[in-house]
Amino acid sequence: MLSKEIEKKLNEQLNCEFYSSYLYISMATHFDYCNFKGFSGWMMQQAKEELTHAHKIYNYLSMQGAKVELQEIAKPKNHWECTLDVFKDSLNHEKTVTKSINDLANMAIEAKDNPTAIFLQEFVTEQVEEESTLEEIIQKLKLIKDNISGLYFLERELGMRKE
Ligand code: MG
Repeated sequence: MLSKEIEKKLNEQLNCEFYSSYLYISMATHFDYCNFKGFSGWMMQQAKEELTHAHKIYNYLSMQGAKVELQEIAKPKNHWECTLDVFKDSLNHEKTVTKSINDLANMAIEAKDNPTAIFLQEFVTEQVEEESTLEEIIQKLKLIKDNISGLYFLERELGMRKE
């Protein structure tokens, strides 16, 4: 049985994961519009991954007999000046997600809610990976600067992402 406070926070996290997915789809639309199909494909895979996070939280709430309450999903940003800015926004977004996951995990630990704390472990680790992946892409983009062939190769590399 979840406490009302944790149930509420998990519902908020569910909304956060849906919003993340929506934001990455918006980033994909930006890249599609600019004819960067590789970057767009990468963002779409990212959006799918966020949906799996949402489903995991949904299932956990459901297994715990808690009420899932869907909220509005905010309109995401849809215009960026350059590729680097899109990935910088992704990283900033992931940092806010990391904070909310860690706050939630700490709350579960303090409440001695072991099932929730253990359930969230995977999310905590996932956030470390997300930030690291984005940091790496940003570093590459900074090195590439205005080099068209560098951008082309990174685009191709990211476009090969399958999951
Ligand atoms: Mg996520």
